[in-house]
Amino acid sequence: MKLICFECKSDYSDKSFQYQCHCGGLFQVVHDFKAVDSEKLRRMFAERLSQRMSMHASGVWRYKELIYPELPEAFVTTKYEGNTGLYASESLQAYTGVRQVWLKAQSENPSGSFKDNGMTVAVSHARSLGKQKLACSSTGNTSSSLAMYAALAGCKAYVYVPERQVSENKIKQTLAYGAEIIRIAGTYDDGIRFLEQNYEELGLYVCNSINPWRIEGQKSMIYEAAQSLNWKIPDWIIVPGGALSNAVSLGKGLNDLYMLGFIDHLPKVAVVQAEGASPFHRMIEGNHPTLIPELQPQTIASAMNIGNLPSWRKAQAMLSQTKGVTVSVTDEEILAAKQLIDRSGIGCEPASAATVAGLRKLTASLIIDPDETALCVLTGHILKDFASFLDYDN
Ligand SMILES: *Cc1c(COP(=O)(O)O)cnc(C)c1O
Ligand SMILES: [Zn+2]
Repeated sequence: MKLICFECKSDYSDKSFQYQCHCGGLFQVVHDFKAVDSEKLRRMFAERLSQRMSMHASGVWRYKELIYPELPEAFVTTKYEGNTGLYASESLQAYTGVRQVWLKAQSENPSGSFKDNGMTVAVSHARSLGKQKLACSSTGNTSSSLAMYAALAGCKAYVYVPERQVSENKIKQTLAYGAEIIRIAGTYDDGIRFLEQNYEELGLYVCNSINPWRIEGQKSMIYEAAQSLNWKIPDWIIVPGGALSNAVSLGKGLNDLYMLGFIDHLPKVAVVQAEGASPFHRMIEGNHPTLIPELQPQTIASAMNIGNLPSWRKAQAMLSQTKGVTVSVTDEEILAAKQLIDRSGIGCEPASAATVAGLRKLTASLIIDPDETALCVLTGHILKDFASFLDYDN
């Protein structure tokens, strides 16, 4: 395994762990899969589905060989995350306009969001380095997840959360796990910038999506979905776009599966942003060479209320590789989709519903064909964020 700068390709494998290359680029974990026997792995992944108490019972560590093969088991910090439901939703077919819709309920993770898939790996890596002080900037779910794993590992979590526009449920969950919360008079983006500039002096290990180990862990979402479908991948995978960790990890995970012959083609990917926080969509749509940050992001989908996205170059590369697209949806479209998802018995928080709203929009505009199949990733739990609910649903 190597740690390589995504931009200038410098090799930082032998340097002390950091988050940004001298050129400003983010790092990427690069595995050497040359010696991997795909057939044997596929059998092992199937056998591990019957495990209950070992690390391989986790929906992340089941795939350890593709995520972090070198990590000694003693450092693995797991709550058997992943193992989330994949639901065929008949009730959403008419609404979205495609013949088959699957919902991957990452909301069923132990802290209630997909952040657990990545966090288990980041915290395990931090332990292997002997780090005791873990930190993140968060709109609420990253902090809940980090707080949970830090407590499990016996480490201290410091979370930087905006003063406004954050779900109080997530704040209370984070506090309950024993984390220290620092409320900042700014946005998620200000929190990230603060950590990037000060982590070294403060001795903090940063668990945001600039951390390449978060991305490695989150690849397991698509491994698990593909395994559930007997390695037959849907035509489209739809993810929400906040800080773009879903988009980036999905691209990397799909690439692994394709390179190793688990799937025979790459599906197309759609990244859905909320209109009031959609700098990535505007960059792609407008063919801009770089991302122009949104200084005052504003959406009811608080988990996606992010204006400056450090991982945009990685996400852009993923889109061109998968011939993917971006789309933005309004808060009204998000809430309408959420109501249907909730009433279908699956349920999710607003940011997750953006995927179904986006799928509907892409089908209506003929970018997605009614004859195609789609998998929407539901990122967060129905209990996470009720700010929007009472106004809308009565
Ligand atoms: C973090 C989060 C998002 C945004 O995901 P990214 O990977 O940062 O783009 C979307 N929905 C929920 C529920 C989240 O917690
Ligand atoms: Zn570099």
